[in-house]
Amino acid sequence: MFVKKLILLLVLSSNFLVFGQASITMQNTYPTNYFESPLEIPLILAGTFGELRPNHFHAGLDLKTQQREGLKVCASADGYISRIRIAHWGYGKALYITHSNGYTTVYGHLQKFSDKIEAYIKKQQYKNESFEVQVNPSASELPIKKGEIIALSGRTGGFMGPHLHFEIRDSASEKTINPFLFGIQLSDSKRPTINTLVGYSLDSDSQINQVNIPLQLSFKKLANGDLLADKINASGKIGFGINAYDQLDNASNQNGLYSLELSVNGEKFHEFRASVLPFTEDKYINLLIDYERFEKTGQRIQKCFIEPSNKLSMYSPSVNKGYLTIEGKKSYNVEIIAKDFSGNTQKITIPVTGKNDPVLVRKTETITPYKISAAQFNQFSKDGITVAFPKNTFYEDLWLDFEVKDSLVKVHDPNVPIHHNYTITFDVSKYSEVEKKQLYIASINKKGNKSYEATVKKDSVFYASTKKLGKFTLLSDKDAPNIQLHNFKNDQWITNHETLKVKIFDYKSGINTYRAEIDGEWILMEYDVTTGVLTYDFKDKIFTDSKHELKVTVTDNVGNTNTLNTIFFRKI
Ligand SMILES: [Zn+2]
Repeated sequence: MFVKKLILLLVLSSNFLVFGQASITMQNTYPTNYFESPLEIPLILAGTFGELRPNHFHAGLDLKTQQREGLKVCASADGYISRIRIAHWGYGKALYITHSNGYTTVYGHLQKFSDKIEAYIKKQQYKNESFEVQVNPSASELPIKKGEIIALSGRTGGFMGPHLHFEIRDSASEKTINPFLFGIQLSDSKRPTINTLVGYSLDSDSQINQVNIPLQLSFKKLANGDLLADKINASGKIGFGINAYDQLDNASNQNGLYSLELSVNGEKFHEFRASVLPFTEDKYINLLIDYERFEKTGQRIQKCFIEPSNKLSMYSPSVNKGYLTIEGKKSYNVEIIAKDFSGNTQKITIPVTGKNDPVLVRKTETITPYKISAAQFNQFSKDGITVAFPKNTFYEDLWLDFEVKDSLVKVHDPNVPIHHNYTITFDVSKYSEVEKKQLYIASINKKGNKSYEATVKKDSVFYASTKKLGKFTLLSDKDAPNIQLHNFKNDQWITNHETLKVKIFDYKSGINTYRAEIDGEWILMEYDVTTGVLTYDFKDKIFTDSKHELKVTVTDNVGNTNTLNTIFFRKI
């Protein structure tokens, strides 16, 4: 343990040498013996801080829980429960503990809370008559000691395997901080792996090997494990990006990098570091990666240059934002270094020669009647469909591909990232009142799957605010949701049942609300969105007779409603 800490200190102090005063001041403020790993089992990670995820960076650590639920989750340090949140999606059941040293720890995807927290939150749920809830207890209500069991681990919050999501935030700013900086330690002896190298020509007249579009470059492995790319000829403004991952000891998962650097002829041009992340910057991840390539292939290339609209703060001061300007007859030695938190590195060297060759391959631009000026509000209408984009929805100017055929609408290309929601409006004046009731706006993804978009209905128009580009249409939902008894039958004696389970689903517009009552009183039914199962815990209520009526009412997103009434019996 001592040796490990010594190595960590050396890593931190070598960072100081490279990055100067600002970094060491920041890093020294993180207390390294304050927070403990929240699980009793040895720490094994399925995910690291800053990993590249869809539309966001991973804000904490994903702790493995032996592929099961129900492991004890302990408070990482003394403090008090400052937030309890239960949501169908996202962090699922989550706890926040505020500590006296200015940090908050977050525990997500929990199965259930400890008895005292469970009692506290159930009171709120019964008061609000809602499963989803968020409360912020005051400092005196739920004080917590370091190591105290606060919950059992689970998999709540959507489609995922069992694990514990753990975060450390600055309490005041809510910025998340890499828990490794607090000395939560892991052994990592393997160097990161670089899979793919891509060169980018960033002006209309720049080129790499006479190609002006993103170009995958080949490389080989040297005897010492470093990588060497084939020589390239280039001219003008160019940049590079790589796909890479890191592996920790004792786990096969592919995790994120801690830092990515690019240097040119020995001078550092660019550095990205996963140390502190404000949630407000999450969306810029789509400019950090090659979004089009990710949408087409699923592979994330992390760019070693900063796109003009990219406002991420995870970069160190850079030269030229990481861009290179290649001049004729000059030679450049470009190095990209992928690093993990323990300081293991993988380096790729790219020899570049300046050569003013003509461009042979370039992207063709399709000019349309719909010119987007990214910095301005843009609105276009065609055949009863209107799309309206707030300013800076797009990261750059473009010609919008906007087509309407019958009620099928194409709004540009899902391979293009956008920063804000925009509005799509359908003229529905040709439909009858009955038809209008059942209609809703649906998006159609690349696989052809249709999903409900929150549709706002005014007399003659329907509109939706969406962050998706691609295809949309109007669909009709005439069918009420389904409700099925799941762990009992009508008129059954279920004295030994601990829970009452009902399954609900809706094939088209999807479930909007549900409500369950026993003998006319609201009961808490926990909703698992992945299975559609609603679960009531018999411990919530004391019965004074045997015969009971369960009533479940479910409404879909266009307002079709179904109600199930059933009888069950329990011995008192
Ligand atoms: Zn996570």
